[in-house]
Formats: sequence, structure tokens, C-alpha cells
Amino acid sequence: MGNRAILVVDIDGTTADSSERVRGICERFAGVGSDWWGDQQINEFLSDAGIASDKPMRGARRLSRIAQRMGVDIIFLTGRSERGRRATTLWIWDNLDIEVGLPPHMCLRKGKAVIPLYMRDDDDYRPGFLAKAEVLAREILPLHKGRTLVFLDDDPKCLEAYSVFGVALRSPHCWRALWSGYKEKKAK
Ligand SMILES: [Mg+2]
Repeated sequence: MGNRAILVVDIDGTTADSSERVRGICERFAGVGSDWWGDQQINEFLSDAGIASDKPMRGARRLSRIAQRMGVDIIFLTGRSERGRRATTLWIWDNLDIEVGLPPHMCLRKGKAVIPLYMRDDDDYRPGFLAKAEVLAREILPLHKGRTLVFLDDDPKCLEAYSVFGVALRSPHCWRALWSGYKEKKAK
């Protein structure tokens, strides 16, 4: 911990491939007249069965090894809302071999350091990049002043917002770059 750099990692499109489910929901709700997602769409997207069916993005399974070898800590920051916490926690455990917990501001007691999973509030229906940028500014940045942040995300709008605060890398290409960077370093 201490002054180690932090990888701030997105879920959808970065570690979990939920693209087919998103397409399916958009098609089913087409004609509603808006790209905006309400409770029906969100509940379907965050259903236990739906989340459990997502495959990890290529390269994402290496996340914990990449972090270990780079000597950095991990934080998950997703546009998913709290109602999907349980299923997302299980998915991360099952697919990435990483155990996540509540972020510090939600813990009743100060406990052991955990890899935190930051999610948006259930009543936050804004575009993902706005919700995530706010969680970053409100909860993450004040806790980690002076530490280098490296963001992994697939959404250009998120990357633009994040780039003010650290290094922003676009997924899925970032996985290959992070991994091959490690291998080259090791070969020297
Ligand atoms: Mg994403």
C-alpha cells in the first residue's frame, strides 16, 4: 500500500464482456423511444443470471498478476449500480480470482484493507461517465492524494474525464500492452 500506484479498473467492456446482453436489452426495449435506461432495463442487466453469464474480456484474467508484477493496488470503479453488488462481487471472484469488498465510505468499521468495488447509487440514472467521475472525485481522490492513478476503461468519455487525474488506458487493447510490457521487462 503506502504510495504504490493504483489501477482503477472498470467492469463492463474492460473486465467483463456484457456487450451481447446490452445489445439484447436495447433490442427488447427498442421503441420505448430513448437510449436512456430505466429500472426495467437496469434490473434486467444486473440480474444474477445475466451477470453470471458474462465472459471475462480477453486478457482481463491476468489483472491480479499484472497488478502484482507492476507492484500496484487495484480499485474497481463501475457504472453498475449498488443493486448489482452481490452478483458483481461473485463474478469478480469467479472470473478474476479477486475478492472485493465495500469501499471505505460504506464500511461501518475500519477493517482490513480490501480491494474496493465502487458502484453508483441505485437512484443515479445519469450516463456512466458522469456517475463514475463523481464517485472518483468524491470518494477516491481524497483518499489517495499523491498516488499515481492508472485508469483502465473502454468508454472514451470516461477516459477523457479520468485523464485529468492520471494515466488513462483504453480497454481492451490495454490488456495486451500491460502484459507484453511486463514480458519485455522480464526478458531484459
Ligand atoms: Mg465500461
